[in-house]
Amino acid sequence: MPEWGLLLLLLAAIAIGYALGRIDRERKRRKQAENLSQEYFVGLNFLLNDQPDEAIETFIRALDITSDSAETFETRITLGRLYGRRGETERAIQVHQGLLAKPSLSYQQSLRVQLELARDYLSAGLLDRAEALLRDISKAENNIRFDALALLLDIYQQEKEWQRAIDVARRLLGKGEAYYRNRMAHFYCELAQQSLDRREYHDARDKLREALDTDRDSVRASLLMGGMEYDQANYRAANKSLQRIAQQDPEFVSESIPLLVKVDRKLGRFQSINGYLTRCLKEHPSTAVMLALAEGIHRSQGNDRAGRFIINQLVRRPSLKGLYGLIDLHLEQLEGSSRENLSLLANLVARVIASKPVYRCGQCGFSGKELHWQCPSCKEWGTVKPIRGIEGQ
Ligand SMILES: [Zn+2]
Repeated sequence: MPEWGLLLLLLAAIAIGYALGRIDRERKRRKQAENLSQEYFVGLNFLLNDQPDEAIETFIRALDITSDSAETFETRITLGRLYGRRGETERAIQVHQGLLAKPSLSYQQSLRVQLELARDYLSAGLLDRAEALLRDISKAENNIRFDALALLLDIYQQEKEWQRAIDVARRLLGKGEAYYRNRMAHFYCELAQQSLDRREYHDARDKLREALDTDRDSVRASLLMGGMEYDQANYRAANKSLQRIAQQDPEFVSESIPLLVKVDRKLGRFQSINGYLTRCLKEHPSTAVMLALAEGIHRSQGNDRAGRFIINQLVRRPSLKGLYGLIDLHLEQLEGSSRENLSLLANLVARVIASKPVYRCGQCGFSGKELHWQCPSCKEWGTVKPIRGIEGQ
């Protein structure tokens, strides 16, 4: 055979070998992909049945069939998350860091892994590392930045970095205008409270105005402003600020009553709040408002009128606190054994009242005796409110 014939044969053999190899590789790749898909769905099934251990085993088995397909990416992400959820943060970090080192990742995939890694750091309490990563992701021209911003907001709230929290919340306004405005107003109130604690009234007033500019329904800003103006002997301003609450959120009117009564006394216009309280009682009745009105009647028209007013109100809206107010009013007039008996009853009612929670979170049901602007249980803002009804307001 001439030399060129041998060469041709050799070339043909190489070509056939290559083609066969390719077909074989293609077949293998397809087989692997099929296996992977199968394992992936088996893993998902375990997840749906709340069997995370079995799911992890399946995903690890799936990843033994190494390839860089989209499914392995998703599988690794899910595996990392599962480790994270089981509290195995180190393993989660390993999985996500390993994934991030892969040169084949697309830009979008790389951002997603970084976000997962930031979540791992957060669970591990490595807030600084999480923050640095999230700040990078938040600069991306990609929707994933909103997830990063939401996590950053959590960090700044945990660290009580209120100005940073405000800046981040402002960037999230497009994701829920009312929701983030409400939060921003609370963050401004936190800053105002810090200024008040340092007796920097000018600064506190600025922060409270910012709070009201951001969310004009910020009850907390009105209450703080009312208290600050009272301390500064600006009683008219305090009165105005506190009377705004009925429009902002009538469920908080009861919170402002003790201070409002004090302001009214300072103004020397006894009964000047009568109109406001009467309106509140009509539109959104509460025991605190009813008792404040009864107190006014007591002072101007005497004990009997006040007693009749309370009884009329209790028939419409029974409440333990109202009953206590009524007993207290009658105690003044009694002497001897009747007074003793009624005192006993007053003590009993007082003990029942003291055993009840005063505030409850409308979001998670957490209840207690203190007003928390951020629910200690579900971490929502402004959801803890005075309890209403027979045992509350
Ligand atoms: Zn809650």
